Amino acid sequence: MKSVLRFLARQAYIGPLFVAAALLAPSVIASRDEPSSISRALFMLGISVGFASVALAFYHRPWVRRLLHLGLFCILLELFYRFAYGGSVSPGLLLSIPETSGSETLELLAGHPILTTSLSVVMLLAALALILTWNAPIRVSPRRCMYGGVLALSMMIVSVSLSPAPAGKRGSFAAAEFKATFPVDIAAALSAVAGDWFDSRLQASRRAAFTFPNVHLKDAAARDGDGEIYVVMIGETSRRSNWSLFGYPRDTTPRLEEISQQLILFDHVTSNATNTVLSLPLAMTRAAPDSHAISRSQKSIVALLKQAGFETFWISNQEPSLVKSNPISEIAFDADHVSFSADMPPGARQGGLDSNLLSRMDDALAGIPKNGKAVIFLHMEGSHFGYKDRYPQSFEHFQNGLDAPRILPPRQQQLVDEYDNSVSYTDFVVRGAIDRLAARQIKSGLIYFSDHGERLFDNGLADSDFGHGFPTISREEIEIPFFFWLSGSFQSANPGIVKALKSNAQSTAQLHNLFETLVDLAGVDYDDRSANLSLFSTQFKSPAQLDVLNMQQVRVSLAVTPNAVAARN
Ligand SMILES: [Zn+2]
Repeated sequence: MKSVLRFLARQAYIGPLFVAAALLAPSVIASRDEPSSISRALFMLGISVGFASVALAFYHRPWVRRLLHLGLFCILLELFYRFAYGGSVSPGLLLSIPETSGSETLELLAGHPILTTSLSVVMLLAALALILTWNAPIRVSPRRCMYGGVLALSMMIVSVSLSPAPAGKRGSFAAAEFKATFPVDIAAALSAVAGDWFDSRLQASRRAAFTFPNVHLKDAAARDGDGEIYVVMIGETSRRSNWSLFGYPRDTTPRLEEISQQLILFDHVTSNATNTVLSLPLAMTRAAPDSHAISRSQKSIVALLKQAGFETFWISNQEPSLVKSNPISEIAFDADHVSFSADMPPGARQGGLDSNLLSRMDDALAGIPKNGKAVIFLHMEGSHFGYKDRYPQSFEHFQNGLDAPRILPPRQQQLVDEYDNSVSYTDFVVRGAIDRLAARQIKSGLIYFSDHGERLFDNGLADSDFGHGFPTISREEIEIPFFFWLSGSFQSANPGIVKALKSNAQSTAQLHNLFETLVDLAGVDYDDRSANLSLFSTQFKSPAQLDVLNMQQVRVSLAVTPNAVAARN
């Protein structure tokens, strides 16, 4: 036993080696990702060498060493994001972690098998380094640490002088690179998320007391006694270019195409962010990418419709967030009736499939009187990874590249097949909701949109090029399906706005337009509204650029260019 302990004690040098490797690895990976910018790579490497030198200079102090090794477990998150998404850890990523259920996390890890296996080895090394050095008397030569520091400074000075940035901008170049270097990126993202959380706590009482001014039904007297039901279907991770309804050559949405004459399709709609937690507040509140904090102090469209007298339902097939006061829960709890998938008895969950939304919609409809007014929000699981868990076996239609419009390596083809099957299942669920509304034969309407899109091996051959929430936004992550179904009696009661809606259908629009659009769909009015943002408005104007809140929660603009796939056949 003693000899084993002695042997292990001799291996304690693994500790400093692990610290140096963990602090340097992300910068090495980043410089591999951007080989064109030598000055950037050199600067990041310089900072990392500096961090490693300082860490090792204090390594002999037991608590510094132990905290260092404990803290370095976050290298697993850093490496996963660097390899799978290609960038530093961002606030958007940290915000999405509590929104991701345990099963979604496991599915994501299983979707990157080589990376996950490698990270398991890194995790073992991190644990080993922590255990072996916990009590070991280790000191790294101060002279070596000093040489490291000098080397780090020289690298940074040389890189700043090589930087193509103009002399006056070199300070901000250095600051940006510093912020993107591990572990500063994680610390900066954590502090941004903590700042948001504190702000939402500060704003909580303001939000709770918030009411929209002078909300009322238009033509209330004439509509008195009319039954009206509106359904808002919030899709998940569905990209427009994989819907045959929008021109995809594979027949993924046959049930909606069957009734396409009854649908009003918008061909050029984009989301204002690339993950759920950033995108939905921009769709469901009056916040815009350059004023996203408004979503913390004002209530959502759900609250406005409730204020107008509609009975409101939030029925979600997603798991509730692990964080209590998160943006999606705040929107959900603006409704009169709220239920998440976890609230259902296990037998009623239908294996987590979105079909459970239809039976829950039936329950909601059964409770609404014939002359009642209600709005039902259905939050889907849609096409979130793992795609193959989003549909039953009977929807396993696309296999082995059947009818595939692109030729891809087998593993990528399999994921695209699974993705397309999940779109087919969304087609089934959305059609089911439309059929239920139509059967009611009252004034009603349904709007479907996805919260954002998805990358599916669009750029090159990398097996990891799928998912959403990348540091650099691609169009596939924001181009979404978006359409309306309006009942005959709704159309005959509202000929003016329906005509305007149809004439806007070829326009470019963004999810930021949803709030005012739903105000018009429900025939509501309130003071200070931005009515020309509504797709039902004759004053609606296409935006000059697409605004997207990126994962660093910074607004970036993309050019408005039509998507070739979006052109309908
Ligand atoms: Zn999402």
